[in-house]
Amino acid sequence: MSAASPGTEPATSVSIEGGDDAVVSGGKRVLLAKPRGYCAGVDRAVITVEKVLEMYGPPVYVRKEIVHNRHVVDTLRERGVIFVDEASEVPEGGLVVFSAHGVSPAVRAEAEQRNLRTIDATCPLVTKVHKEVNRFARDDYDIMLIGHAGHEEVEGTSGEAPDRVQLVDTPEDVDKVAVRDPSKVVWLSQTTLSVDETMERVDQLRERFPEISDPPSDDICYATSNRQVAVKAMAAECDLVLVVGSGNSSNSQRLVEVALQAGARDSHLVDFAHEVDEAWLDGVETVGVTSGASVPDVLVMELLEWLAERGWTDVQEVTTANEKISFALPRELRSSGESARSSVR
Ligand code: SF4
Repeated sequence: MSAASPGTEPATSVSIEGGDDAVVSGGKRVLLAKPRGYCAGVDRAVITVEKVLEMYGPPVYVRKEIVHNRHVVDTLRERGVIFVDEASEVPEGGLVVFSAHGVSPAVRAEAEQRNLRTIDATCPLVTKVHKEVNRFARDDYDIMLIGHAGHEEVEGTSGEAPDRVQLVDTPEDVDKVAVRDPSKVVWLSQTTLSVDETMERVDQLRERFPEISDPPSDDICYATSNRQVAVKAMAAECDLVLVVGSGNSSNSQRLVEVALQAGARDSHLVDFAHEVDEAWLDGVETVGVTSGASVPDVLVMELLEWLAERGWTDVQEVTTANEKISFALPRELRSSGESARSSVR
């Protein structure tokens, strides 16, 4: 994995800001990770749905959750979005938005058969992995896709070449995969995995297939790896790390695991501040706070307020990188003028 992700300026050193003027209650302090929260792919997907609502009016159909965050999904649902599991649930001739996690060619074909108008909010970094699958399948490689079984992104990516892709999730999966020619094997990955765990899986694969090829560029995206670097930088100092994110958000779940592996005494995932169990705070001085790539920062601010009410008023931001990346909207929406930021934030 590369040290600096594209579109990211690495902080020259880990910088800790704030807290000097704060009223500190006992040894209580909050370390707030930066970068955290919305990535460019999520922002683009949410803006896409907002633009479609604006241009066509409700109801707007979205296949699967546009991004894996309860607050975002509930807010868009209130504005007139109907989330469906399959294109077959959209009325014939209707308009459907594909989510940020991507879809397989079979889903596109079904939408076409039903004469649906489609707008694709797939993150360009997921599309990049789809293209890699197609390229290696064309060159007749067996493709080991490291990822989580059942995740929508993995279903879409492997659907590009189902007879060439084998999913590697657990260490046991490494023993199960079978290849036709050990000199024509490549590994690719889901974009939102733990960087360290993925490299463990790659090492296991390389033991079985010493000639296995690496992806042309990192598949784990800049946002996933940057958020893991930031949480790692502060975890060892934290008695508790609270990650704001939803249970079905892969990159948010990974932040809890990375925090614990990097030395945090305890870590939990919460959708909202009110889900924090006060018992988690027993004997805690330093609380780390971060959020997954699909999480609006308003939810982090609410958590900081909740902590401040309980004496954690000293908030220090721990910065490991500054992200500059943004993606153009889907072609169909560009002429309407792009919002700089989505309003669900
Ligand atoms: S987490 Fe990464 S791959 Fe997923 S939407 Fe964000 S930038 Fe794209």
